[in-house]
Amino acid sequence: MSSLFGTYARSELAFERGEGVRLYTADGTGYLDFAAGIGVNSLGHAHPALVKALHTQSEKLWHVSNLYQIPQQERLAARLVEHTFADQVFFTNSGVEAVECAIKTARRYFFGTGQPQKYEIIAFSNAFHGRTLTTISAAANPAHVEGFGPLTPGFVQTGTGDLAGVEACIGPQTAAILIEPVQGEGGVKAIAEPFLAGLRTLCDRHDLLLICDEVQSGYGRTGRFFAHEWAGISPDLMAVAKGIGGGFPLGACLATERVGKYMVPGTHGSTYGGNPLACAVGNAVLDTMLAPGFFEHVQEMGQYLAWHLQQLSQKYPSLVLEVRGKGLFAGLKVAPDVRDFVARLRDNKLLTVAASGGVLRLLPPLIVEKPDIDEAIHIMDRTLAGLAGLAGQGEK
Ligand SMILES: *Cc1c(COP(=O)(O)O)cnc(C)c1O
Repeated sequence: MSSLFGTYARSELAFERGEGVRLYTADGTGYLDFAAGIGVNSLGHAHPALVKALHTQSEKLWHVSNLYQIPQQERLAARLVEHTFADQVFFTNSGVEAVECAIKTARRYFFGTGQPQKYEIIAFSNAFHGRTLTTISAAANPAHVEGFGPLTPGFVQTGTGDLAGVEACIGPQTAAILIEPVQGEGGVKAIAEPFLAGLRTLCDRHDLLLICDEVQSGYGRTGRFFAHEWAGISPDLMAVAKGIGGGFPLGACLATERVGKYMVPGTHGSTYGGNPLACAVGNAVLDTMLAPGFFEHVQEMGQYLAWHLQQLSQKYPSLVLEVRGKGLFAGLKVAPDVRDFVARLRDNKLLTVAASGGVLRLLPPLIVEKPDIDEAIHIMDRTLAGLAGLAGQGEK
């Protein structure tokens, strides 16, 4: 019996090493990795630049507390500021801490501007913001909150797509709107750009803050640096993680100066957040990602993947019900049990992730190339053909 908490439904597989878009078990069996640590290994496995950055920094200095200047952290923050809406950055170790920091910063802003009655945050059904008590309270997914009450007060949920419905939730207590521009765990649902733009307008009209949770959708995943850019809008606060460290635990909360300036000494902190090792890797990730043509590559590969997924949905209409997503953040709504489908793909040496609502998630490393996508599609085709045969459905 395992000595671990039973919180994960793990497969039997254990990997020994990785290279690019591939993972290998100890006996040398290769797997095509279209899960990438749930969108974390943005530059694939063992990327030479990341290995070098980690190695070089590891020989100099691993950790100092945030009681001192950390030049690697300053540099990473300055680069994030240069390439986003933000003026200020707070570094964390994970996505949930980044969301938590955004929530605290929003509340503190209204406290600082003499409006402490504005504390409530509007979130959305099918959202996922992490697993602390506060973030499960924000998303209010029944499966995540059961047995963990009492929850953190100050959140309401409404549906996406209905701006009038959102506006009806706004009252004198409302502080912010919190949304993932592409819902990941909730089923790879790209939120419509006019709806996102409408949320920005509502925030401006009612003096609310717009918080984007780009923990999964950010860092190039959709083919722009951040997914909200597609809607031509800027949030006031943004949570970032997953791809930011390419596999090294790192996250960040980004803010405009107007909002972030109330986070003064003593209001927030983290022992590890933004330590030299993490930020050395974070800077190496940006070196690659901000190089000319990187996001265009993601867009091109995303279109190529989406086209092939559409072909699969036409070939197996009773098994593949819908193709979703944006860029290299792709989803397939499938008729078979999605966890069973993920297991079958894994047996055929393709790694994917399930999302809720019967959706299969494909999150390849952003460095994926056409032949890798061809191989993944071939495995999916073969797996679907097997399922069609089982069901005797006689697909086209
Ligand atoms: C993964 C995720 C989180 C939580 O990140 P952790 O690093 O697991 O804490 C929060 N929000 C979104 C949108 C995510 O996908």
